[in-house]
Amino acid sequence: QTQKLTNSELIAFRKEHLGKSLSLQYKVPIKMVRGAGQYLMDQLGRKYLDMVNNVAHVGHENHAVVRAGQEQMALLNTNSRYLHENINAFAEELLATLPDELSVLHFVNSGSEANELAIRMAKAVTGQRDIIASEVGYHGNSNMCVDISSYKFDGKGGSGAPEHTHIFPLPDAFRGKYRGENSGAQYAEEVKKQIEIIEAKGRGVCALIVESIISCGGQIELPRGFLSKAYNYVRSSGGICIADEVQVGCGRVGKSFWGFELHGVVPDIVTIGKPIGNGHPLAVVACTEKVANKFANGMEYFNTFGGNPVSCAIGSQVLRTIRQQELQENALTVGIHLKQQLNELSLDYPIIGDVRGQGLFLGFELVDHQLNPLADQADYLANRMKDHGVLMSTDGPDNNVLKIKPPMVFTMENAEELLFLLSKILSEDFMQIN
Ligand code: PMP
Repeated sequence: QTQKLTNSELIAFRKEHLGKSLSLQYKVPIKMVRGAGQYLMDQLGRKYLDMVNNVAHVGHENHAVVRAGQEQMALLNTNSRYLHENINAFAEELLATLPDELSVLHFVNSGSEANELAIRMAKAVTGQRDIIASEVGYHGNSNMCVDISSYKFDGKGGSGAPEHTHIFPLPDAFRGKYRGENSGAQYAEEVKKQIEIIEAKGRGVCALIVESIISCGGQIELPRGFLSKAYNYVRSSGGICIADEVQVGCGRVGKSFWGFELHGVVPDIVTIGKPIGNGHPLAVVACTEKVANKFANGMEYFNTFGGNPVSCAIGSQVLRTIRQQELQENALTVGIHLKQQLNELSLDYPIIGDVRGQGLFLGFELVDHQLNPLADQADYLANRMKDHGVLMSTDGPDNNVLKIKPPMVFTMENAEELLFLLSKILSEDFMQIN
């Protein structure tokens, strides 16, 4: 029946009856009706190249993943209190991608739930509750997650950092507090400062939580040396180190399967979400045996949907597809080419101030000659790209960063198409800087 409604009618109903703080993408919202690989199709049959959806990791409506879910759904779906091969098989396949130290898994249903559980675990291990997190970080929509997400509490409708949250400056080596190649140590000192603030209050550190590339912060690559130094400081004060891999995990960064591996560290807890279910609500918390043992204090951990046979069948098939289609390798080769070509483009169009990221998790930032952020131009570029059938999103504290995080089946030809259209729109009058 909804098929017959016009877009205006759909919008009017949403405005009245769906959550008032839900948003819609684009000035003229699109109604999507199909997905296939790296493409989406709207109600008029228009095809869009999707540069935004890193959830559809192995491709929108990937046939093998859909089949795995359908077949198990038709056979049995129940909770993890019964024995089932699927939960063991999925756990085994996922553990094979993680460092040996991370040997215990808990299955949940969303990135928020994963981070919520990670913080609960850190509290159980340390007996503390003070969390250190990045400026402009985002870790989810639950109470605890919003409390540690500066992206939310420092933004519209927020009311600042809660008492037990401690924020270090966004480790942005391009326009941040410290700049350049060697800023990693300086940002790590900022983490140390937060530890000292906590200790001066007579309390101890519970955890540090950081994304391996800070997504909402504008695809911020952690400067070299930052993470290992910050982890050392946190651990020597008794805290737990959590890597939020909800956006960047599962091969997307190309060089390694997990983003934290780019920095030569092993976290105590890793949270995994979006891509692992390819659109099905599936998320995971991986932790060390020590953390898992401390958390198991006698209270049962029960999760109605977490680890059900359908979700596990889907998760296993996603991992298998990444391997069989060599999608991590694809992310590396296409990502290197795309980043290099974007850097070339920045020579012709100095409005592109910085190109950054790894694999198929890239971003480029629009600035004027004085490095002032150009949010209107970023918005214009995203909307013009949509006119040409390419979906892109903007982010960062100043909304001037274009993000590139397509399904991992994104090809060299797709990259060429993207670059061609970008150069066309970058030539338009509105995109010129003086
Ligand atoms: N962590 C990060 C880094 C995220 O980007 C998100 C979602 N954007 C979450 C956690 C929360 O995941 P979910 O929306 O699945 O609850």
